[in-house]
Amino acid sequence: MKRNCDEVMEKYLMLDKGERVPIDITLHLITCNKCRKQIRMMKTAEKISKAPLSIPVAMNDFSIEAVMAKIDPNYSYSKNPISITKWIFGGVAMILFMLAFGLSNYCGASKAIVISFYTLFAGCVTAYCAMFVGTNMDFFVKLINTKRPLSKAV
Ligand SMILES: [Zn+2]
Repeated sequence: MKRNCDEVMEKYLMLDKGERVPIDITLHLITCNKCRKQIRMMKTAEKISKAPLSIPVAMNDFSIEAVMAKIDPNYSYSKNPISITKWIFGGVAMILFMLAFGLSNYCGASKAIVISFYTLFAGCVTAYCAMFVGTNMDFFVKLINTKRPLSKAV
């Protein structure tokens, strides 16, 4: 059973700027496209407005999209270039390729070719991991500086 999305977003917004996101929230964001989209939209909205955002308590896609449409009519939230699912799929495909190469008895290749293959492969994996972390880091560290509306305290 998935964690409640509203509960997760509530918890996420309570974090201080720069604070590490707890593992349960991170896990939810990895598996929940809806929450990732909301966070991405809020960050873009904040970047565009250059001011701390007041996030309404009853938050939904529609309200954020409405705000985005006001701030920047040209904004499209389909900007996310590569989804996390594709990243994971790519990583698994790379590992399977390496395993297939290893099991194929090196296709009769010489030792030098095998070594250069593995060196190249290690380089690819390193670059892949660095790119993955670099492009998805924003999900794992909270960057939004949010102000809780005063009415929330009632
Ligand atoms: Zn969610």
